[in-house]
Amino acid sequence: MPDQLQIALNDAYAQAVTQTDGHLADYIPELTVVDPDKFGLAIMTAKGRLCEVGDVDVAFTIQSVSKAFAYCMALELLGAEGVQAKVGVEPSGDAFNAIEFDPISRRPYNPMVNAGAIAVAGILRDAFQGNALERVLDRFSLAAGRKLDIDESVFRSEQATGYRNRAIGQLLCGAGLLHEPIDAAVDLYFQVCSIRVTARDLATMAATLSNMGANPTTGDEVFDFRAVRSTLSVMLSCGMYNFSGKWTHDVGIPAKSGVGGGLIGVVNRQVGIGAFSPRLDAKGNSVRGVHAMQRLSDELGLHAFECTNVGSSFVEHLL
Ligand code: GLN
Repeated sequence: MPDQLQIALNDAYAQAVTQTDGHLADYIPELTVVDPDKFGLAIMTAKGRLCEVGDVDVAFTIQSVSKAFAYCMALELLGAEGVQAKVGVEPSGDAFNAIEFDPISRRPYNPMVNAGAIAVAGILRDAFQGNALERVLDRFSLAAGRKLDIDESVFRSEQATGYRNRAIGQLLCGAGLLHEPIDAAVDLYFQVCSIRVTARDLATMAATLSNMGANPTTGDEVFDFRAVRSTLSVMLSCGMYNFSGKWTHDVGIPAKSGVGGGLIGVVNRQVGIGAFSPRLDAKGNSVRGVHAMQRLSDELGLHAFECTNVGSSFVEHLL
């Protein structure tokens, strides 16, 4: 019998690969030297079956896709209320690197934009001190099912030129949401953005979230399932920056993108999807990644409110 999942993946790839719009991120030189034509797509079920097509072995930096997993770790440490004392859960409607807080709550809008993610880095730094990077790398590695590392040259470049992110760090400190040494949190943020992954890694990490926090291939319990629930909620409402409303309406999959060209989608209790294609649209999302995910959502019925999306409920067993 033909593998329907592989067929749907191949079809999404074939559709999306024709898209050559968009531009590489160019705020640091390292991101401008990647091959713009690379494209990898992988999907892993919550039971651990993997399908892949294209450049699924090409390494790139995780960038903002890390924000979802770092937030999950912060939730485990402080609980949802504790984290919300520092970072909200409202879509900002603005660019990922906007220097702004919610004017009423005086906190970053959400953990999926830079301001919120830097506050989250402060939470992780406070909890793990000098071991914070190691702890994050260990956890991301468990989610990916292999040992991940940092792209040192991307980190150094981010660190040398990250003026906006440093400004956000200063403002967070002024608002009492971060403390000295501010650089410790901001540098941790840069390091976490510089973790190297492949599209296959992203699919495995996404499948770990889809499987209530347990890596479906290794069986490791990586994230607390309550933290996963909160993380997926914010991914659905805020994961695609100022494209989040349209994304949720059209694609309906909790997702997170990064300027390295990575994109994850998580369908609760069903599948994790990982995509890599470095050409970005004006909002910083991978052009091909967005196309492929839209196609997969339509073809496989993965939209959260699709009538055929039935895998995420216990209720059917109670009827
Ligand atoms: N390192 C990038 C930054 O802080 C991450 C942003 C992103 O992927 N959108 O600007």
